[in-house]
Amino acid sequence: MLDVKKIRQDFPIYETNQDLVYLDTAASSLKPKQVIDVVDHYYSKLGVNVHRGVYGLSYEATDLYESARHTVAKFLNAKFEEIVFTRGTTASLNLVASSYLDKMTEEDEIITSELEHHSSMLPWLHVSKKTKAKLKYVELDTEGRITVEAFKKVLSDKTKVVALTYVSNVMGYITPIKEIIDLAHQKGAIVVVDAAQAAPHMKIDVTALNADFLAFSGHKLCGPTGIGVLYGKRHLLNQMDPIEFGGDMSQTVDKFEATWKDAPYRFEAGTPIISGAIGLARALDYITSIGFDAIHEHVKTLHDYAIHKLEEVKGIEIYNKTAETGIVTFNVVDVHPHDAASIFDKNKVCIRAGHHCAQPITKWLKQIATLRATFYIYNTKEDVDVFVDSVKEAVRFFGAF
Ligand code: PLP
Repeated sequence: MLDVKKIRQDFPIYETNQDLVYLDTAASSLKPKQVIDVVDHYYSKLGVNVHRGVYGLSYEATDLYESARHTVAKFLNAKFEEIVFTRGTTASLNLVASSYLDKMTEEDEIITSELEHHSSMLPWLHVSKKTKAKLKYVELDTEGRITVEAFKKVLSDKTKVVALTYVSNVMGYITPIKEIIDLAHQKGAIVVVDAAQAAPHMKIDVTALNADFLAFSGHKLCGPTGIGVLYGKRHLLNQMDPIEFGGDMSQTVDKFEATWKDAPYRFEAGTPIISGAIGLARALDYITSIGFDAIHEHVKTLHDYAIHKLEEVKGIEIYNKTAETGIVTFNVVDVHPHDAASIFDKNKVCIRAGHHCAQPITKWLKQIATLRATFYIYNTKEDVDVFVDSVKEAVRFFGAF
């Protein structure tokens, strides 16, 4: 069981906001002092560039930056050279899709789903428009889940790319990604996994999954903003052209010719996100030391407690009662979520209102927007109580019941 009281002491925001009820971790997590400290250490004690400096401070910064890559590789059970640092999940997924622009034809098919965050489906929509490759959607089941059976129906000999979310940021469901990867590989397709919401909640082993590409962001798992990861199988990364050109990514440069370094460096042109990588590594150590079993148990307990209490509230609609990863998506009946959100804000309850950059699933739910509360390691049952009281207040205030 998590010692939440102790965990909350790691998060300085609670010192200045004692009555804060932060339920928007799916958008971005709070940051612990352990992460803030290493970022501060980099800026106050080093602050210099990596790779190119021929002096002690630069060697030290380079060591920290590259050992962060080792930490990420260990976190995912990947190899060092398979870890590319990016700005975040969006940048990682766009990097893969961009490099497939010249690898696809109208004979090819791409499979995605209505559960995707825009950053998982829009890059492939773009590829499909540019190359005429056919974009196909897995039909969701009645709960809104991706199933292996539905996936089989859209998989074909023409499938070249499968781009799916591991955990939906609206529904909180876990996709049966391992089975899907195995099936896709039988057809020679590659699978790009959006793990932005999975990485904060579950152990990811890319080798066991046999994923071709997988992306996540630092800021959703206690790390800094502006840093993320693209994992890619080494041979696939080295088949991809860089999409950014500049310092530190080339092997040789002549006036009319240039060659690129191998991955990961061919994708890290320019001064990299040094403090971000160092902070991300510390964040991964932080959540790993808490342990995914304990995180899952805690989040699930809060989720089930919230659902149990919300079920007694008349005038609301919950869309994902069976979610596995601490996401509650709901609406106050006939009240626009942005109106309802004002009540939560007044009570210092931070939740999300909108389409959560996932319009296809919001439309699938026959909504224009929803409210979303998400739970993580620093949340308590008291947070849930304040949240549910705010839901009741919103229902009363807007006369939904
Ligand atoms: N994919 C999912 C499932 C997400 O929830 C998010 C962010 O909310 C993203 C991708 C994009 O992440 P980022 O904004 O960090 O690039």
